[in-house]
Amino acid sequence: MSTICNRLEAVRRRIGEAATRYGRRAESVELLAVSKTQPVEAVRAAYACGQRRFGESYLQEALSKVQSLADLDIQWHFIGRIQSNKTRPIAAHFDWVHSIDDPRQARRLSAQRPEGLPPLNLCIQVRFGDEPTKGGLAEDQVEAVLVELDSLPRLRVQGLMTLPPPEQDLEAQRRPFRRLRELRDRLATPERPLDILSMGMTDDLEAAIAEGASLVRVGTGIFGPRD
Ligand SMILES: *Cc1c(COP(=O)(O)O)cnc(C)c1O
Repeated sequence: MSTICNRLEAVRRRIGEAATRYGRRAESVELLAVSKTQPVEAVRAAYACGQRRFGESYLQEALSKVQSLADLDIQWHFIGRIQSNKTRPIAAHFDWVHSIDDPRQARRLSAQRPEGLPPLNLCIQVRFGDEPTKGGLAEDQVEAVLVELDSLPRLRVQGLMTLPPPEQDLEAQRRPFRRLRELRDRLATPERPLDILSMGMTDDLEAAIAEGASLVRVGTGIFGPRD
């Protein structure tokens, strides 16, 4: 088995163990393999081990991978910062976008989503600290944006995403994830259940699963260090 396959299985085990520890079913946590900066061969190796969902952050690199790997049945997720003048290729080539933090981006994506494709799945990115360089809406802005997105026909808002700064200790890691879950619980409605909590990466996936993550985004844990 390839190294990537071994690492992928180790990550799946971690997810399963964390789910058991916190009283959840392992199948309630989806794994997104974050392949940014990794070569297409690495994506193929993970695909050969059963991985189907892949996440990318840098648009040019992502588009070239999507094209090179068009023979595979991959679900592509865009997880990086979105430049307003670059929404069209995202709308055309991705199944999911996790990093929406501006309703103008969402309006463009809806308008640009090609006719033949299903609605684009979205998560709204939320930030809890004061880090203006990181993306994300402040907590008190999320509801108004959700209401605005409800009227966009070519989008399906699935949930919320967060990318907190690294913390060593489990309790500190859990805090922003808990806040995201509580925010979701406050804002969910029957028409808009916000089922997806996209949170947790290689170093904090256990904390995220403890707080209800339904999708963890794992890069280095699967592919090894990035250059
Ligand atoms: C790079 C990245 C990840 C993966 O991080 P790892 O620490 O390598 O697991 C997850 N989410 C986002 C938004 C990223 O940019």
